[in-house]
Amino acid sequence: MATVRLEHINKIYPNGVQAVFDFSATFEDGEFIVLVGPSGCGKSTMLRMIAGLEEITSGNLYLDNEFINDSAPKDRDIAMVFQNYALYAHMTVYHNMAFSLVLRKESSDFIHERVMWAANILGLVPYLNRKPSTLSGGQRQRVALGRAMVRDPKIFLLDEPLSNLDAKLRNTMRAELKSLHHRLKTTMIYVTHDQIEALTLADRIIIMKDGYVQQIATPYEIYMNPANLFVANFMGTPPMNVFKVKVSLDGFLHIGPNQVSIVDHPIYSALKKKDYFGKEVTLGVRPEHIRIDKLCRLDQSFVSIVDIYELLGNEALVHFTIDQSKVLAKILVSQDIKAHDEICYAFDIEHMYFFDSSTGERIHE
Ligand code: ADP
Repeated sequence: MATVRLEHINKIYPNGVQAVFDFSATFEDGEFIVLVGPSGCGKSTMLRMIAGLEEITSGNLYLDNEFINDSAPKDRDIAMVFQNYALYAHMTVYHNMAFSLVLRKESSDFIHERVMWAANILGLVPYLNRKPSTLSGGQRQRVALGRAMVRDPKIFLLDEPLSNLDAKLRNTMRAELKSLHHRLKTTMIYVTHDQIEALTLADRIIIMKDGYVQQIATPYEIYMNPANLFVANFMGTPPMNVFKVKVSLDGFLHIGPNQVSIVDHPIYSALKKKDYFGKEVTLGVRPEHIRIDKLCRLDQSFVSIVDIYELLGNEALVHFTIDQSKVLAKILVSQDIKAHDEICYAFDIEHMYFFDSSTGERIHE
């Protein structure tokens, strides 16, 4: 069992920088939690407070209902895996993995059993007598994971563990990590600035900006139901297209001189209720939610010239312009489209996201 409860956590560094504001969340036993956000948003600070490496300025931290704000890192039964692996260069892989158990004065039989167990799972048996300098980046990262696993901790904390690996290896290790989690079923808290890692690994994502939590939800919810413009923009590649628009009382959405009808969209009544008609709001549409409208229906599509057509394989990216905004649509490959063609585009009405232009908050659920 390992649940973590964080209540109204704040962190102010001695130089006055407040890195985390009023962070509250509960992580369930066995959950894979990913803390994601741009550099400097407070993710590592949060992780280091959970590890006990950084003091909590105010708020309460519980591990399995035990208040642990003041307990020393070694008493927390938490293992941390760092981005730089932090392996001992002069020790073999075996001894790197055994080291924490040697310090705990475990018997050599027990240590051997634990090291071999982890080495088997991680595919490290052939490398046990090697020094870290003779291993690849991926193998070193596995040793770092193995060193954490032998301790059988209540929680794994992982701080950007894949960011030193090249892109291909990162994808492989990401999948390995996911299956390791399935196998161990230990609570994992993982920090990254990479939204793809967050979407692929997490049971739940916590997205942060400037020290504040923006949304806590499953990857699907975060992607399909972003709470605000920041979340909508941060999650997804290529990023969401964003437009400044106005909606008139008769249910038309105006982007510059263009207009499409949105009377059938739930936003219509939400805008009415909140008195947004005639005011500027921000519209977000993901590239995969823009379609080519072969019928070119007058009140449902925009006409524009294809600036660039990029073939990706079975999909293609179409670059075009609406009212001076560059727009990207991701469509199934089509033989009929090429640069400079005039085409009609329609937004998928179910997947149009409207945000308050001054606060960035979603206007409708
Ligand atoms: P992230 O992990 O999201 O990149 P950090 O938690 O490392 O962000 O940093 C959050 C904020 O706290 C940043 O503004 C950073 O400059 C500041 N910060 C981090 N560590 C310290 C420190 N030891 N002293 C003062 N400020 C710090």
